[in-house]
Amino acid sequence: MTSLKIKSGRSQQRQVLAGIAVLLTVAAMLIIPKWKAAINNGGQLPREPFCIAGNLYYVGTRDVTSFLLTGPAGHVLIDGGYPGTAPMILKNIATLGFRITDVKILLNSHAHFDHAGGLAALQQASGAQLWASEGDADILLSGGASDRNMAPVNWLVYLGLMKYPAPRVDHRFRDGAQIRLGSIRLTAHVTAGHTPGCTTWEFPVRDGNRELLAVSIGSLSLPMPTSLFDWTYDAALRQELERSFVTLRSLPADIYLSSHARSFSLKRKGEERTTAPDPVVPFIDRGGYLADITKAEAAFRRALKEQQM
Ligand SMILES: [Zn+2]
Repeated sequence: MTSLKIKSGRSQQRQVLAGIAVLLTVAAMLIIPKWKAAINNGGQLPREPFCIAGNLYYVGTRDVTSFLLTGPAGHVLIDGGYPGTAPMILKNIATLGFRITDVKILLNSHAHFDHAGGLAALQQASGAQLWASEGDADILLSGGASDRNMAPVNWLVYLGLMKYPAPRVDHRFRDGAQIRLGSIRLTAHVTAGHTPGCTTWEFPVRDGNRELLAVSIGSLSLPMPTSLFDWTYDAALRQELERSFVTLRSLPADIYLSSHARSFSLKRKGEERTTAPDPVVPFIDRGGYLADITKAEAAFRRALKEQQM
């Protein structure tokens, strides 16, 4: 009698647990695709493309940037946005009257989901060659899964939420490399930290009879710790960040750009350019460039201090 009761009690327990498991599975099946769709474009809205200066065009979304550098030998596209925003970039390029098949070189600021997610689609549409930094090339090939700084949130990758379609890496470059396409010339500054191969792109832009130096910062936000249980930056990462701040300060940037539009106040500058006598002037912002480096460095020093406490 007693053993029968225990048995029926256990089978009831099992039934309850099975019921909970089914409910959780159904909830996950309903939620994850919605979550995936939201993450797929990060909630990014389209933005009207426009000429920043000379042969430099903005073709990104509201916040996640993509820049098009055009030339008679073909065009260079910096950054692919989210997997879900590649169609917006394609549309922007077409709206400006350029052909995606004339994009011969694809570049990346860093191998995160929101800047590298659309590269595979853009590569397919253009047939362009992708140049990747040595530090980020393998991360790109893994669709973002092998990023050491993403380790604490790797469960998102396992759920397929933060993994992007891997592009083909055609060339790998080191710090200081120059990439040329006809008259277009870009210098790669590996400003590592945010990712191991995070790259700041420096390139001259000819606008009428003036030449302006554009600098697009890879990212100034601090990397995630490599472990959920240890929030300290190791010596190598600290050195990378120290070096990145020195490098960024040394670049004589006229036009300040970044992988996120909010960093360099694209919205405000975009509005100002519509009424400015010279529409390029709002984007000439060496002060804003230096101020943001100082802000990021102060955040880094604060984080270091907290870690030593
Ligand atoms: Zn990032």
